[in-house]
Amino acid sequence: MSQGNAQLMRRLNKSSLIRTLLRCAPVSRAKLTKLSGLSPTTVSSIIDELISKRLIVESGIGLSSGGRRPVMLAPDTDRYHAIVVHVAGDRVSSAVTNLRHDVVETLGNPIRQPVRDTIADHIAGLVEEMRVRVRARNPVCEFIGMAVGWPGIVHVQSGMIGETSVFEISSFDLRGELARLYHDKETLPVHIDNDANLAGIAEGPAGLGEPLQNYLYIQLGYQVGGSVVLNGNVLYGHSERAGEFGHMIVDRKGPLCFCGNRGCLTAVLNELLPATNDHDYAASVGRMVSGEQPECLRMDEYLEYVYIGIASCVNLFDPELVILGGPFSDVASDGIYESVQSSVRANTFNRSLRVTRPSVEGSGILRGGSIVAFSEFFDCI
Ligand SMILES: [Zn+2]
Repeated sequence: MSQGNAQLMRRLNKSSLIRTLLRCAPVSRAKLTKLSGLSPTTVSSIIDELISKRLIVESGIGLSSGGRRPVMLAPDTDRYHAIVVHVAGDRVSSAVTNLRHDVVETLGNPIRQPVRDTIADHIAGLVEEMRVRVRARNPVCEFIGMAVGWPGIVHVQSGMIGETSVFEISSFDLRGELARLYHDKETLPVHIDNDANLAGIAEGPAGLGEPLQNYLYIQLGYQVGGSVVLNGNVLYGHSERAGEFGHMIVDRKGPLCFCGNRGCLTAVLNELLPATNDHDYAASVGRMVSGEQPECLRMDEYLEYVYIGIASCVNLFDPELVILGGPFSDVASDGIYESVQSSVRANTFNRSLRVTRPSVEGSGILRGGSIVAFSEFFDCI
C-alpha cells in the first residue's frame, strides 16, 4: 500500500471509529474493536491519537465481563464545538453544539429586511456573539465548522442559494458573503443545506432514532419540503433540487403555486389550511385536530392530500419509514399519525410501512447541522 493510501485508510478508520464511539459511548476498547472490525493494534493506536487530540476521554471503569474491569471511553465534549444556524421565514436561530450534538449556547432574533442585503451580517453577528459567550465559559473550546439550514433550494457544493418561496432572493452566494465578512478573522468551513435535508439527517444513523438507511423526512408546515435518504445518504439529484415534495402536482386544476404551476401539494394544502407562516400553520392544525371551526370542516380532505403525497413518494423510493415533521408534528395526535399511516399503507405496495413523528425533540435542523459540521471535521482530522 502506498503512503498516500495508508494515510487515507487511517483517516477513514479514524472517522469510522469516532462515529461508532459516539453511537455507543461509554464503550471499552475491546467492545470498540469488536464493533469496528479493525485490529486491536489499529484501534489502540487511533484511540491514543484521539485522546491526545482531546476528541475522546477515558471516562471511568466499566463492569467486568469475566476479566479485568475495562476502562471506558467517551467523547470529550469540552474541546470541539460546531456552530449551526437556521434561517426561517421570520427568524434566524443559532446554536453552538458539542461533540455529542448537545446545544451549549443559543441565540436568535427576528429576520431583517431586505434579506439579501442583511442576512450575511446577521448570521456573522450571531456567530460572533455566541463564540464570545462560549469562550468566556470554556477557554479551551475550538470551533470546527458551521452549518446553515436554509428554507429553499441550496446548491451545497457551491454554497449558492437558489429558489425559495420564503424570500425574494435567489442566485445568492451566501457562503461567499460569509467568507468575505470573515476575511482577516478566524475562518470556519461553512456547509449550507436545505433545512429539511438537515432535519432529515438528524433522523439518520448519526441521529437519535433507529439506525435507518432508507427513509423519507417530510416537513409539513406553511411550506412543504423534505429529504430523501437512500442507503444512508441524502439524495440531492442532478441540480440539487431533489426532495421538493411540496411541488408534487396533486391536482392539475388546483390553486396556483408560487412556482408557477397549479395544484402543487403546498398550494393545495395551504388553500385548505390558510396560514402565512409556520406559527399560524401549527395553530390551524391544532384547531383542526381539536375539532374547532372552521378548519375541521376540511380536515378529511386535508389528510387525504397528505397521504396521497406521501403514498406517491413511497411508491417512488420504497423507504422503510416516513418521518412526518415540521409544525404539523407539534400538534397532530397519535390517532392522526395512525390514520395517515393506514391510508398510505392501503395505497402503496408497502403494507408494513411506518409513518412516525421525528425522534429528535426540539430542532432537528440544528441537530442535523451539527452532525454535518462534525462529520466534515472527522473526515479531515
Ligand atoms: Zn409549486
